[in-house]
Amino acid sequence: MKYAILDCYTDEAAGLGVPSYLGTYPRYIAGFLNEPVYYLTIDDLRLWKKNNSKIKVTKPSQKTDILTYNLTKNYKNIAKIVDEIDTLIIVLGVHVPGKYLSAVPGTIKELIPLIENLNCKKVLTGPAVFGTQLFGGKFFEKYEKKVFDKIDLKMYKFNYEDIRDFSIKGASLLKQIPDIRMIEIETGRGCDIGRCSFCTEPLKNKVEFREKKDILEEMKAFYDLGARYFRYGKQTCFYTLPKVIDLLKDTRKYCKNLKVLHIDNVNPVKVMQDKDDSITKAVVKYCTSGNIAAFGVESFDPEVVKQNTLNTMPKIAYEAIKKINKYGSEIGDGGLPNLLPGINIIFGLLGETKKTNEENMKWLKRIYDEGLMLRRINIRQAAIFEGTSLYEKSKNVYLGKQRRLYWKWRNEIRQQIDFPMLERLTPKGTIMRDCYAEIYDGKTTFCRQLGTYPLIVGVKERLELKKFYNLEITGHMLRSLTGKVYH
Ligand code: SF4
Repeated sequence: MKYAILDCYTDEAAGLGVPSYLGTYPRYIAGFLNEPVYYLTIDDLRLWKKNNSKIKVTKPSQKTDILTYNLTKNYKNIAKIVDEIDTLIIVLGVHVPGKYLSAVPGTIKELIPLIENLNCKKVLTGPAVFGTQLFGGKFFEKYEKKVFDKIDLKMYKFNYEDIRDFSIKGASLLKQIPDIRMIEIETGRGCDIGRCSFCTEPLKNKVEFREKKDILEEMKAFYDLGARYFRYGKQTCFYTLPKVIDLLKDTRKYCKNLKVLHIDNVNPVKVMQDKDDSITKAVVKYCTSGNIAAFGVESFDPEVVKQNTLNTMPKIAYEAIKKINKYGSEIGDGGLPNLLPGINIIFGLLGETKKTNEENMKWLKRIYDEGLMLRRINIRQAAIFEGTSLYEKSKNVYLGKQRRLYWKWRNEIRQQIDFPMLERLTPKGTIMRDCYAEIYDGKTTFCRQLGTYPLIVGVKERLELKKFYNLEITGHMLRSLTGKVYH
């Protein structure tokens, strides 16, 4: 049997697989198949269909085509590969809609015309088995069963005993990717709180953690292949992992010259339960700068917290933000503070009223006025998935009723909090090291550091792409920066 894995990219509350990240699913599947397998991206397929696999050079007036930016080493041979294989395994699914600088995840709608005439078996797996949605505030997109020969849940969710072996074998997939990737590392699944009205994680997984040794051996396999950028991103709370401090310590022994080691989701409640603050101190000590503890606060309105059974009351979120600032706000090697909190805000939840954003603004202003820092505020509308209590209770109520307020609320946070916060975080003259030039938009090059939720810096010249630059910050936009090359 000959296989190809088609990565259409994935984004979930726990786990990112949109370039520059390489997600876990294609890697584990490659290890499971345990034989030579082609790794393809949706970009490879798009370029094949659109332009017969020939890369078009962008003119100085044009934007980089991010639909075909993330090609594998196989891109020139797609026609031959799809002819040769017996089975195409498609990894797809976006559950947490976002905007991506240099990639566009594939949707079911886009995928079908690309694959329906291929003469091989088509297997769909990834978060899409539960539906997918690229845009917030909408109901999920369901897969069309007739196009796929199989919807495979097993490949979406191997058990941790199997992953021990699959994850190491599957690391070799990296050899088929010509560009640098952040390697998303899984530490656990499920959520021990597990009641937030909009969240699919408790539906998908029971609470489980990977063994420290298994995680380290997987990282070592990648490290030996040249990977230097890692994020502990696939978990609902990094602080909940047993022996988490030992893991951080040992990572530095297994992988000595890491360029980036970051984390993702953290539950503010667990930050407050870390009595001697030892986990926070260890994250600051062993990870690299620019790191973020991303808190799923979702709302500072107590009524919304209650009705959606969210895990954090505003006061606890605030205390956890203070604690992370206390240990992490010092500037590190990369030019940004070592570790700062990030928060997620969701609109479109149950119990929302016209007063909801007043509550958000009250707490956010307090955070700002007290001189604290937030590295990012992620604002989105809830995507509504079947099986969640939000789906059961709300039906279409929010979408019809209060949607018009979303942009106003979002703007208030962006203008009054985000913007001054960004000025505080990266004052003019800040030198941000090792920014990777990713795309052009006319004469501007957009760069970012590799890492967790990196800040985008626009440089007013066409720098050679896929190279690193040190940048001096010259100004601030809403949610991004301007800079110039620092020599
Ligand atoms: S805390 Fe809530 S949002 Fe986070 S994983 Fe658990 S249920 Fe989902």
